[in-house]
Parts: sequence; structure tokens; C-alpha cells
Amino acid sequence: MKRLFVLGALVAAGSLSVAAAGLQQPAAAKVLEVEKLKDNLFVLRGGGGNVAVMVGASGVTIVDAKNPGWGQTVIDKIKELTPKPVVRIINTHTHGDHVSGNVEFPATVDVVTHENTKVNMEKMDIFKTAGGRGLPKRTFTDKLTVGNGAEQIDLYYFGRGHTNGDTFVVFTALRVAHAGDIFSGKNLPLIDTANGGSVLQIADSLQKASDGIKNVDTVIPGHNPVFPWAAVAEYASFNRDVVAWAQAQKQAGKTAEQAAAEFKAPAKYVGYSSTMGTLMGGLAGHIQRIYDGV
Ligand SMILES: [Zn+2]
Repeated sequence: MKRLFVLGALVAAGSLSVAAAGLQQPAAAKVLEVEKLKDNLFVLRGGGGNVAVMVGASGVTIVDAKNPGWGQTVIDKIKELTPKPVVRIINTHTHGDHVSGNVEFPATVDVVTHENTKVNMEKMDIFKTAGGRGLPKRTFTDKLTVGNGAEQIDLYYFGRGHTNGDTFVVFTALRVAHAGDIFSGKNLPLIDTANGGSVLQIADSLQKASDGIKNVDTVIPGHNPVFPWAAVAEYASFNRDVVAWAQAQKQAGKTAEQAAAEFKAPAKYVGYSSTMGTLMGGLAGHIQRIYDGV
């Protein structure tokens, strides 16, 4: 049964020939690294987006749940940190490297997201296949508080950016936030227009987060190591400047490809990348979305 499932998953992923060869070998071990941020707050790295793990008196809250097939690995790793069960999953946004592990947790676990993220998640095959298991049970529009005292967690939505449901999750007593992929450190952002993202609005949404969230020292990005909270304000400014620059290139009559070839992150943004991968059309695609006013 298990072997059939693995083969099925690999066929589904489009790598049947690799799978056929791989059946003679053990599957690659799934490895998660643990970073301890506070006595009761950890970040799990590997297998998709950063997972935050907060251990509370009555159970564990996690933020995001990694790639398909990594949910049990997350559960097993948490067992090394605490005997308490996971009672709540908060998903920062709809992407498969942040939500797919949800389906491997017990059906009793509370799942909380922004209302738009629930709509986006309901369209995903992994949740259809799982009969709806792992889908959000609770949603919010602008702000929601769960837990209290030392375990208070505030969820905020400030507008479109990476998607139309990007949630900032704040562990208030610990002064740490998980921002998901709307904050990608010192990289150009991926804007998923199919899930409501907006390259024109991401800077404003980030600025509102920077202005509206108080008493946070550290931010966990969707991927990459943690940053000081002030990096969110800088990232808002970076995105605003990139949009203004690209709009000037359009005015000057350059194609998105020509502008992409000339782009350099402004020098005042120290350590920022001037390149993007190939996802969603890469840098030229990003600039085209600015040209298109998405
Ligand atoms: Zn994402």
C-alpha cells in the first residue's frame, strides 16, 4: 500500500522513469533543521517554507506545514521538542510548500487562515484528494487574536501582495512575527496573480504591516533566515522603488525584457539580489506585471 502510494505520488509529479529506477533504492530521507528562537519557539527548515513551532501549555501551534509528504516529518520533529500535541495550524498563504502538510495532521487540529486563503486552498487538488481534511476551520478578514497571555497570537492582513491572503502571524509575548512569502528577505518578491497577488500593492501592504504591528523584534520570512523587524519597512521601500523604476522604463519605451536585462538593485539596499529565478516569468515577468498594472 505504502509503496503504491509512493509510486503514485511520483507518477503524479511527472517523474515516472526516476521513480521506476528509484524503487530499488530507499527514498531520500526527509531532514528538518531546527532553529531555536526562544525557549518555546522554533523554526523548522527544509522541505518547503519555514515552519514556526510555538509550544504552549495546552498544545503546540505551528505556522505553515511544508511540501506534500512532509507533514509527518514535521510531526515527528516536534515530538523531539515537546510531548505536547499540535492543536493549531496557521497558514500564512495558499502555496503548496506552506499548506500541503496540513492533510497529514489529525482532523481535530484547528486550522486558521485569512478568508481569501481558504478560498484559494479549496481549489487545491491535495485538499480535494484528502476530502477537505486540512482546510481552514476558522478565517479572519483584517485581524484575529487566538490564545491569550503568554500564548497570545495575533493574525493580521494588510492587503494584497504575494497573494490575496498573506497573513502576518505575531507571537506577541515573544516579539516574533512569521510573515510568510510576502516578505522574502532581500529578494524580489514572487507575485502570484492567479491567487490574487499584486505587484503594485505589495509595498503598501508591507508598509501597513510595518506601521501597524508594534513590539516585534524579529521576523521569520517564508524562506531564508530570520531578519530584524525593521527589514520589513526596508522591503516595502525596496518594492516601491522597483515599481517606480520599472514604470520609468516603460515610459522610456523599453520592453520588460530590456528593462530586466538592465535591472540592478539600488545601492542603498545593501545585499539585495538583482536577479530572480524562472518562476512566474522570472524578472521580466515581474516587470511585465508592473507594466500591466497588476
Ligand atoms: Zn508562496
